[in-house]
Formats: sequence, C-alpha cells, structure tokens
Amino acid sequence: NNDYDTKIDYVFKVVLIGDSAVGKSQLLSRFARNEFTIDSKATIGVEFQTKTLILDHKVVKAQIWDTAGQERYRAVTSAYYRGAVGAILVYDMTKRQTFEHIANWLEELRGRADKNIMIMLIGNKSDLGSLRAVPIEDAQEFADKENLCFMETSALEATNVEAVFLTVLKEIYRIIS
Ligand code: GDP
Ligand code: MG
Repeated sequence: NNDYDTKIDYVFKVVLIGDSAVGKSQLLSRFARNEFTIDSKATIGVEFQTKTLILDHKVVKAQIWDTAGQERYRAVTSAYYRGAVGAILVYDMTKRQTFEHIANWLEELRGRADKNIMIMLIGNKSDLGSLRAVPIEDAQEFADKENLCFMETSALEATNVEAVFLTVLKEIYRIIS
C-alpha cells in the first residue's frame, strides 16, 4: 500500500515487548503514523504496522509487531517472536516495577526468539521527568551488562522515537548485509 511495495529489498520483523501501559502502542503509532493518543486503549487489535524506508539505497520494510494486551497475563505466544530480527524492550521510567520486570522479558525473549536478535532497551515517558523512578545510570548499567543499546524516549513529545527505530533497523541491516 505504498509506492515502494513493488521493490522491497528486505522485510524486518521487530517486536515490542514490556509491561502493560509502558507506552509500546504509542511508540509504534508515533513511529508509523506520527500520531499519539492520550487515552489509548490497551487492546487495539492490530498485529503489526509497517513503515517503509530507505537504508543504504535499499528499500527496507519494517514490520513492527505490537502486543494486543497479552503481556498483562504474561501470555505472549511464541508466534509473536517467530521470525523477529529485532526487539524493543520498553519500560516506563516513572514506574520502577516496569524496569525491574525487564530482566524477565529479556529472559523470555532470549528463550523464545532467534539468538541473533538485535535488542534495544527503552525507558519511555521521558517527558515526565519530575516523576522519574529509574535513574538513567541504573538503566545504562543494566544495558551494558546485558549488551543492549539503550535510550530514553517520549512517545508524547516524539523525543528519540525515530532514533530508536532507526538504530534498531540500521543495526539489523548491518548484521544481515
Ligand atoms: P502499552 O500498553 O505498553 O501499549 O501502552 P500504551 O501505548 O497504550 O500507553 C499507555 C498509557 O501511557 C496511555 O495513556 C498513553 O497515552 C501513555 N503514554 C504512552 N507513551 C507516553 C509518553 O511518552 N509520555 C506520557 N506522558 N504518556 C505516555
Ligand atoms: Mg498496547
């Protein structure tokens, strides 16, 4: 459904994971459609959204998968991870618990996804700085220990959202090309 469809060089499946309400769906809608909804529903029913971009003169179709609320019951299925070449692990920097659960999500991801998957850690809601519950140093230390790229984002203010997705896609491209 866009001009590039006839000459796609690569399709990269990337999955979003993390606790409920950390902002996964809003990060995706900001990236794919440049939209943000204040009062977003937990379940939107859409499996994935795509965005086609040019990387190094190649047409890359990013197919970004979003959960439909299953994460609340820790019931993300293997089908969700199947074929994924990238994963974006999201916590809410105003909710310490969502950061503490990242280790569990990482374990699940490493158990179920391809072992060469590119993983990025995201602390979302950086616009709510006065409510910060996760120091940037803690997240960076965890990311370094686990060998992940790390960034803070705001889907609301569109801060670093494009940068996160581009970092993931460029790194995947670098690995496979
Ligand atoms: P999901 O369950 O992880 O998909 O989370 P949602 O994307 O549905 O977002 C949960 C709630 O957090 C919604 O009320 C969003 O409007 C809000 N939210 C998401 N991203 C941000 C952000 O960057 N800043 C702020 N302040 N709120 C956000
Ligand atoms: Mg969601």
